[in-house]
Amino acid sequence: MNRTIVVGAGQAGLAAGYHLGRHGLPFTILEADERVGGSWNHRWDSMRLFTPATGDGLPGMPFPQDERFPSGARMAAYLTAYAERFDMDVRTGVHVDGLFREGDAYTVTAGPAVFEAEYVILATGAERVPNVPSFAGDLSPTIVQLHSGDYRNPAQLQPGPVAVVGAGNSGADIALDLAPTHAVVLAGRHPGHLPMRIESPAMHVVFPLLTFAWTHVLTQNTPPGRRARAKMLSGHSGPLIRVKPQDLDAAGVRRAPRVTGVVGGLPQTADGERLDVANVVWATGFRPGHDWIDLPGLDAGGFLENDRGAVVGQPGLYVLGQLFQYRFGSHNVVGVPHDAELVVADILRRRTRTGAAAAAEALRGR
Ligand SMILES: Cc1cc2nc3c(=O)[nH]c(=O)nc-3n(C[C@H](O)[C@H](O)[C@H](O)COP(=O)(O)OP(=O)(O)OC[C@H]3O[C@@H](n4cnc5c(N)ncnc54)[C@H](O)[C@@H]3O)c2cc1C
Repeated sequence: MNRTIVVGAGQAGLAAGYHLGRHGLPFTILEADERVGGSWNHRWDSMRLFTPATGDGLPGMPFPQDERFPSGARMAAYLTAYAERFDMDVRTGVHVDGLFREGDAYTVTAGPAVFEAEYVILATGAERVPNVPSFAGDLSPTIVQLHSGDYRNPAQLQPGPVAVVGAGNSGADIALDLAPTHAVVLAGRHPGHLPMRIESPAMHVVFPLLTFAWTHVLTQNTPPGRRARAKMLSGHSGPLIRVKPQDLDAAGVRRAPRVTGVVGGLPQTADGERLDVANVVWATGFRPGHDWIDLPGLDAGGFLENDRGAVVGQPGLYVLGQLFQYRFGSHNVVGVPHDAELVVADILRRRTRTGAAAAAEALRGR
């Protein structure tokens, strides 16, 4: 059999496909969406990547350089072309809902469809299930509320003020997107910001340095990497990359402390102010969604414990694209190809070991 099933056709799944294909290993990518491209197909209309086009390509096919910071839709189109370019076996519209193991073989199910595999790579995305505070259910039913993962444009909201809850990169971007049409209050702790504009010419030099740091310096193997990892995994939001506090001021976005609850149907901030708003956008992050996996000894509730992608205690099972899985950029397009290479190297090692064991067994049997 010797087949690898990759779950997810975003950048992580396709990076895995590239390295599998390079080594002649047979594989199939199963994707729940009807399209290739992962989360990039589901971002808001005005969203632009913060990683420049020079760093947005996967191995073997450069990203088009006609705009410096591509849109999410552009990234999804690139990934679609990438899967075609390398003639990958991607099956779309296949929502994987079960993963079982018997001996050395995995069974992957998607409704009535069953796939057998020796190796499985989970590339289902770090941002799968929206985090919404439990008190969201106490908001007045007259308030329109949605999560940043469902936000596309201001037309989804009703007239009247908006609270964007969560002041990280998504919250700040969405607050600016809404400011021309709505009175916006951005609630949450300011996470700091990059000192320079990402559009500035200096970033042509800084970005390659950052990329090197994100991929090869800040790893689980280095003390600064381990410190950065602990911070990221504790839910600490990184600094604002594109938006500066003065941009929010210029757009008329008001700042408020964190929202800590709902009182009288309205969101209330840590300093006791009730935000009299008609809309709430929860920019409160995501968690991975591996809960459909039920394998003995595996805690699938959150981050999957792994060693450079190899899931601990589950031989032949791998994960890609988790937050700081091995390096700072593990969940970014700059980092995931390196992690994919490690995963495929491990598959090759396992194949060699099992091949050698089978040959020895055959010799003994003669
Ligand atoms: C607002 C925002 C901006 C960002 N900007 C950048 C940026 O500029 N640069 C950058 O590098 N990163 C950026 N990121 C991080 C970015 O999301 C990731 O880089 C990227 O989308 C993750 O790719 P992925 O392949 O790991 O996961 P996804 O893109 O989420 O792909 C996972 C795929 O798995 C599929 N899937 C999930 N579960 C199943 C299942 N059970 N069965 C079958 N298929 C399944 C999904 O449908 C999806 O297509 C940003 C993130 C956010 C939220």
